[in-house]
Amino acid sequence: MTTGRHEREDNQRQAFALMLNGLGDQAIDTTLFDIAEPPFADGILRTTWEELARGGYVDCVRGGQYRLTARGWLAALEISGDARSEAYQERIGRVLAAMKRYVKGRRESRVVDLKTISSEAGEPEGFIFNIVESRASVIGDARRGATWFGADRGRLIEIPVDFNMEPVDVVAALTVPHLDRIQALEERLQVVEEERARYHCPHCDAELVSASAQDYPEHHAIVTYERFACGLLTADGFEEEPCPYSDAWPRLEEFDFKAEENGRLWVCRPWPKTARARRVHVIRDAVGRTKEEAEENARILYEPKVKGKERRPTELW
Ligand SMILES: [Zn+2]
Repeated sequence: MTTGRHEREDNQRQAFALMLNGLGDQAIDTTLFDIAEPPFADGILRTTWEELARGGYVDCVRGGQYRLTARGWLAALEISGDARSEAYQERIGRVLAAMKRYVKGRRESRVVDLKTISSEAGEPEGFIFNIVESRASVIGDARRGATWFGADRGRLIEIPVDFNMEPVDVVAALTVPHLDRIQALEERLQVVEEERARYHCPHCDAELVSASAQDYPEHHAIVTYERFACGLLTADGFEEEPCPYSDAWPRLEEFDFKAEENGRLWVCRPWPKTARARRVHVIRDAVGRTKEEAEENARILYEPKVKGKERRPTELW
């Protein structure tokens, strides 16, 4: 039911590759990826998008629409190895040369609009946007690199007077330091996953709804109880009351279903017959317009559950 870690990492790599391909030379902030459309719909798991968003590699613009963050773009380049190619270095060289011309022989930094740099370098605006946005054109001392001017992100570039970056610096910024980034990505995704596991039922993924610690002074012990939305209750990790999706959940025969008349309705609260059935957290009383309907609804509420095959009690209203 849950996807293995290696499969998930493969799926993340695949998502990065598809996004980088779809992005081309467009700006990361305006290029949206629709997860319900090709090429993403078939191969990329919804959980992959959620994990990448939690890691800060993509952000969700609207339900189902994502875009790469600067961090995500760097991670994608790192994974693909694109930035290390000679062709990429040449392109970066053209952009840097265009920038350098503005401060050559000057005593002050200059502000130039993105469009102008783009046409002078002969490189697409999106490509330059991504380099400035990811701060790949800034290494170490921020004053030496090109940055957005003031609040004009994506429009005006400030080129410092001592701007003297070489393509190799930028490529290094795009790649080598991000080797740790990519390791951090994997570790981070693992942490996210562990956290997720920690706050969700291990059988059905229902959310943790409450946690409390109870002191038992006579036993010199403090026990942490955690209740999940599906009904699972754990005490220091041990399952006290079962999840309806787990093997610990009793069979229907372990309950007695006998509805009683209550005004114009019938109400059925199953009566546990076995020790295992007694551990079930009371779900709720089932109601029906007839005795049979109330009892059938109670069976639906208390039967062992299988993902995707859940039944619902009949609607009375
Ligand atoms: Zn559960």
